[in-house]
Amino acid sequence: MSTPDNTSENISAAPSPAVEPTSPPAVKTEEQWRQELTPEEYHVLRQAGTERPYTGEYWDTHTAGVYQCRACGTELFTSKEKFDSHCGWPSFWAPLADGTVRYIHDRTLGMDRIEVRCATCDSHLGHVFEGEGFGTPTDQRYCINSVSLKLVSADDAGQ
Ligand SMILES: [Zn+2]
Repeated sequence: MSTPDNTSENISAAPSPAVEPTSPPAVKTEEQWRQELTPEEYHVLRQAGTERPYTGEYWDTHTAGVYQCRACGTELFTSKEKFDSHCGWPSFWAPLADGTVRYIHDRTLGMDRIEVRCATCDSHLGHVFEGEGFGTPTDQRYCINSVSLKLVSADDAGQ
């Protein structure tokens, strides 16, 4: 802005849109996550932990609906891509859409795996494996922790 000039009026009558600092929409401090999530959610989502197989809420769920990120609410997977892998965790053969999740090469624990994270808030979801011979369209298995997800059933969403 230049020096105010009382002779010019309403040059900038239209309010300029507020300029926010550019940052991803759901980035929070670890302290905020700690406060918002349960200890188990925090361990899996923010510390890349893994829930014990066959203990999670959704490993054997067949309810029609959409699975959201437990941390930020982004829609990540749907029941249409969920299949019975009998591995003890919810398994999907594809995410809801390209770009909803992101992938990180994970060589921890002496294994060579692809970690899957929420693209919106960067929380850990699980891992993706492929070529296992499941009769699905992609032959991929998104092996996702129940505690990383929140199922919104089609019945609830339709009201
Ligand atoms: Zn998220």
